[in-house]
Amino acid sequence: MTEQAPPAGTPDLAPEDGKVAAARVSTPSASRRRATKKAAESTDVIVVGAGPAGSAVGFHLAVAGVDVLILEKSHFPREKVCGDGLTPRAVKALTTMGVPIAEDDGWLRNKGLRIIGGGGRIELDWPDLSSYPGYGMVRARTDFDQILARHAEKAGARLLEGVTVTGPLVDDRTGRITGVTTKDGRRFTSRLVVAADGNSSRLSVAMGLHKRDDRPLGVAVRTYYTSPRHDDDYLEAWLDLWDGNSLLPGYGWIFGMGDGTSNVGVGLLNTSSGFGEIDYRALLRTWLATMPAEWGFTEQNRTEPVRGAALPMAFNRTPHYTGGLLLVGDAGGMVNPFNGEGIAYALESGEIAARVITQALARSSAAGCERVLQTYPRLLKDAYGGYYTLGRVFVELIGRPSVMRFATKHGVKRPAVMRFTMKLLGNLTETRGGDAVDRLINAVSKMTPAA
Ligand SMILES: Cc1cc2nc3c(=O)[nH]c(=O)nc-3n(C[C@H](O)[C@H](O)[C@H](O)COP(=O)(O)OP(=O)(O)OC[C@H]3O[C@@H](n4cnc5c(N)ncnc54)[C@H](O)[C@@H]3O)c2cc1C
Repeated sequence: MTEQAPPAGTPDLAPEDGKVAAARVSTPSASRRRATKKAAESTDVIVVGAGPAGSAVGFHLAVAGVDVLILEKSHFPREKVCGDGLTPRAVKALTTMGVPIAEDDGWLRNKGLRIIGGGGRIELDWPDLSSYPGYGMVRARTDFDQILARHAEKAGARLLEGVTVTGPLVDDRTGRITGVTTKDGRRFTSRLVVAADGNSSRLSVAMGLHKRDDRPLGVAVRTYYTSPRHDDDYLEAWLDLWDGNSLLPGYGWIFGMGDGTSNVGVGLLNTSSGFGEIDYRALLRTWLATMPAEWGFTEQNRTEPVRGAALPMAFNRTPHYTGGLLLVGDAGGMVNPFNGEGIAYALESGEIAARVITQALARSSAAGCERVLQTYPRLLKDAYGGYYTLGRVFVELIGRPSVMRFATKHGVKRPAVMRFTMKLLGNLTETRGGDAVDRLINAVSKMTPAA
């Protein structure tokens, strides 16, 4: 995915072209490999991509004593198009990894979500749960991704920056991935490879794993403005995004960065009829034109270009394990379809994958190792499958303007409905017990078949 503003009518900005597939090479036989001048570097696990998912896998594997090499095409610090918002779910995953998140170190905490729409406005604090902290955070991805990558390195993961993976090394006989090739002509071999290369996941495509078009996809654009609203302690979401007379399925956000700027953007789901026709920059402009002038969301105050990218949702690439390759984060389409949050799921799937890999590599037979690896897709389905199926129903429903209008008009003014909605959309319930709302959401998620 090139992270540029998407042109109207091009919802998926990253054509899964054949570039990587064309670079696909076969693993040389043992004798040929010995004869090769430049020997391939070998490791237990190669992770392609050092976004949140890749750094999380690298961190957890290193802590478990696994030899892990992360290959990242860019150099840190680097930009990543994002809203920079972290829910309590993401905070929990960071805490589990022992990432220092003191406010003095630039982590801006928030109390909850302010929702505006249908003439209503409500502030909802993050739920007070034993399973998740009662606060979220904001951190620019330029810092965030670098902090995570360094954290993984500190734990013992090896990270090579500026190394672009061009394709898989594949064993001709078994079809199994045995390593990767890189743009600078090197070859790296490993027992397992993790695709953490984001939404386009060219590595997955080269291994025959394409996006599923029966899953929802979001597209979002964002930029930054200097604004007096920069130190807001609520994340703000606006539901009134209009295309003519149609209320669109998505929201606009204003997230104060605490550094004099606000991250401002709009995100839409592909379930509305006009999805492919929408000009996102124009939508952002039109929406911002409705804001009070003193907030400063004007061209003069814009500090960055408007950039956009896709949000792959509800397991839009499967299977999550095949032939030595595991998919984590956006590569496996793990963005929450209810709210467009992807960082928490990148971190969590990274941890799950690392747990599975650690156990698999400790088995004494190839068959035993494979049996453990096959559990990865099932563990993901247990964790998110039912909930994502519900999310798919949700995005279909709000893709109908009449439903979106009804929900916005009648929901936002009812605190009880909104508290329920916040827990459902944020996937923030007690994992065990909890109140009636928690139990209802958990039960329905469990009963709903994972697909
Ligand atoms: C506009 C927008 C706003 C968003 N806002 C939020 C938000 O506020 N909160 C939230 O939780 N989520 C948000 N998301 C979603 C979130 O950004 C993603 O879900 C998250 O970044 C996924 O992490 P990842 O590690 O799987 O992939 P990525 O963050 O995309 O990381 C992939 C990494 O792989 C590297 N890479 C790619 N190809 C190669 C290659 N061939 N060789 C080597 N390295 C490679 C890339 O350089 C990159 O570092 C937003 C998304 C968008 C588009």
